[in-house]
Amino acid sequence: MRYVDVILPLPLDGTFTYSIPPSLAGRVQPGCRLTVPFGTKKRYSAIALRLHDETPVNCQVKEVIEVLDESPLLLPSQLQLWQWMADYYLCPLGSVYKAALPSGLKEEDEQISYKPKLVPYVRLTETYFEEAQIINVFLDLKRAPKQASLLMKYLEMSKAAAALTLKNPQLLVEVEKQELLRQADSNTTLFNALVEKGILEQYDKQTDRLDHDEIPADMVLHLLSPAQQLALDKINAQWQEHNVVLLHGVTSSGKTEVYIHLIHQALEQNKQVLYLLPEIVLTTQLVNRLKRVFGNRLGVYHSKYSTEMRVEIWQKQLSTSPYDIIVGVRSSVFLPFQHLGLVIVDEEHETSFKQQDPAPRYHGRNVALMVAHAAGAKTLLGTATPSLETYYNCQTGKYGLVELFERYQQVTLPDIQVVNIAEERRKKMMTGPFTSVLLQEMNEALQNGEQVILFQNRRGYAPTIECHTCGWVPRCPHCDVSLTFHKRLNQMTCHYCGYTDSVPCRCPNCEDEKIETIGFGTERIEDQIREVFPQARVARMDLDTTRSRQGYEQILRDFEQGQTDILVGTQMVTKGLDFDRVSVVGILNADTMLNLPDFRSYEHAFQMMAQVAGRAGRRGKQGRVILQTKTPDLPVVQQVVNHDYKALYADQLTERRMFHYPPLYRLINVYMKHRYEATLNGLAYEMANLLRKVFGERVLGPDTPPIARIQSLYIRKIVLKVEPEANLKEVRNRLRQAQQYFMALDKYKAAQIYFEVD
Ligand code: ADP
Ligand code: ZN
Ligand code: ZN
Repeated sequence: MRYVDVILPLPLDGTFTYSIPPSLAGRVQPGCRLTVPFGTKKRYSAIALRLHDETPVNCQVKEVIEVLDESPLLLPSQLQLWQWMADYYLCPLGSVYKAALPSGLKEEDEQISYKPKLVPYVRLTETYFEEAQIINVFLDLKRAPKQASLLMKYLEMSKAAAALTLKNPQLLVEVEKQELLRQADSNTTLFNALVEKGILEQYDKQTDRLDHDEIPADMVLHLLSPAQQLALDKINAQWQEHNVVLLHGVTSSGKTEVYIHLIHQALEQNKQVLYLLPEIVLTTQLVNRLKRVFGNRLGVYHSKYSTEMRVEIWQKQLSTSPYDIIVGVRSSVFLPFQHLGLVIVDEEHETSFKQQDPAPRYHGRNVALMVAHAAGAKTLLGTATPSLETYYNCQTGKYGLVELFERYQQVTLPDIQVVNIAEERRKKMMTGPFTSVLLQEMNEALQNGEQVILFQNRRGYAPTIECHTCGWVPRCPHCDVSLTFHKRLNQMTCHYCGYTDSVPCRCPNCEDEKIETIGFGTERIEDQIREVFPQARVARMDLDTTRSRQGYEQILRDFEQGQTDILVGTQMVTKGLDFDRVSVVGILNADTMLNLPDFRSYEHAFQMMAQVAGRAGRRGKQGRVILQTKTPDLPVVQQVVNHDYKALYADQLTERRMFHYPPLYRLINVYMKHRYEATLNGLAYEMANLLRKVFGERVLGPDTPPIARIQSLYIRKIVLKVEPEANLKEVRNRLRQAQQYFMALDKYKAAQIYFEVD
């Protein structure tokens, strides 16, 4: 084979052909990384896709410079997945490559940034490896007791006594420097003093970063309740006919227990398991639970881990002793699996499975289904509030459906009471964002030593500030949105591009000093609670307080252990977390969710409200939920109150059918962005015309989205609604052609055109 087609880590379509010099012949295999030249002086690590002897026409072929892997880093099934994704999501293959590999494996210019981790260790120098010497040292150190005790600790940890007696340095146990300093309660200065005296020396040792705590896999499973056992049996039965089964189980029904039994079952058959979660936020509680059963057979993979750690997990999965279970967020669908047998997608309805930016704009759940399909594995989707797409697939018989509508230990579902904000406001019964009903419930809960969760889907102090006199509102200079006021930082921030500005003392427009804050973000709600309940211990969980993993875990731990009475948060608090002492949940403003300009807004609002309601009253006692809204009569509000997912589904499906939306129709958004609005309008207009010629009535737009400019780029959107019978391959081809046509035009050179599928 003289040529190899490679994928470059660049947002470019297709593959590139290079020739294999004789010196590298035999070393290039599909799935290996190769260093290749590109352009005049760039070098990239590319992925070898296919070897062949077809001499490319019309272009000068460059040579592969180096082969970086002795054996493939990617299995054939992974390369196939990449190609499927590029095709299905209408994005460059190179973008899939960029998303799939941890950055340590794909750096440019041969700078493979992955380095083995070096950990400093400590040992006695050769000179001092002698009993008599040691005795002298301690005499010398009489006036440096801290150094003496550090050395003493070292001798103890290294089991030096035996080694010295037998005069055999091999018997010294290796001691990690950090661990020594920690156990000796000492510091680097003291340590360095001993090094300077030539007694101790430091050396580096290469280790990996994976968790080697000896956690035995005790494989002790909880006994399932009769309802859970029945669900488990039904899932197995449904898998006989369907590759994909949905477990529709109410909150706290013990879905996780059922998953654990299914994982156990897969391991017994020597199969691997991929357990997908929508967000990092959920991993901690779950991983602890799974580790108790499966120990070190379980690995965790997510983007908050360092690239080195992710590289090591990747390599472990290719080795002869891979993890049997991987728990991770959407990016873990890219990991190599050698014998995958089961994929679990927990909280399958969650929108965070969807990657927004950059390309590939994919849905983790759907890619997981492809991964399972390719491996011949079974998939279980689980949730209390299924996505319309998934439920539709159950109704049409594509997926199996298993229901678990009994909570574990028959705890009753929470009682949800709707309170009309408009009415309370009229009667002047509101205190800030709280209705009198909610305050009373909170008060009662606090007096009983129970906990409260308050859900408000807006972070920051106030969504905006406004001049009382002239109505001036601060806006982001780069995006078409107003700035959110963050009081603690005393600044205004754009939630789309991160632009910040200081808060003016006077209105820059009319110089008036009366600047008001409008609306309630989580930060302001926290302040309000402190005013109303000064004794209560309050915590806030949103993007601003959980930037670090520790921040998040701390908040969660405090709440679990009852150190916090009231937890305020954005949709983070709606996630499948399991708390014991929560008796009251307040949904502060349902309308902000219901009024979003998105055809899925009711579906998502239902999901969020049902999920957060599910946090109330999990053990022993029925919980109370106060749902505050200005539109109490809206059917979706009633559906939440009645825990009636099926009614929501029926309503929404009718609407989607009427307006040609998923799951009945396929939706492809065409986005166009440009720095100049006039140019963009021209492009959008021409694009719509061209697409109409091909797709006719299926084309809507161009439209100006609600946020018409982000990061200084204007945005236009064209929507394509395709009936299920249509030839999707053809549709995708035509869209790609249109994209290529316009990108090739000089006047639109600076434009961005991309697609969002489904
Ligand atoms: P879900 O995932 O459906 O919300 P979980 O699996 O988190 O529900 O279960 C809720 C709580 O009930 C958890 O604390 C869990 O430990 C407990 N639980 C559920 N099923 C069992 C069981 N079979 N044995 C013991 N505890 C269980
Ligand atoms: Zn003003
Ligand atoms: Zn901005």
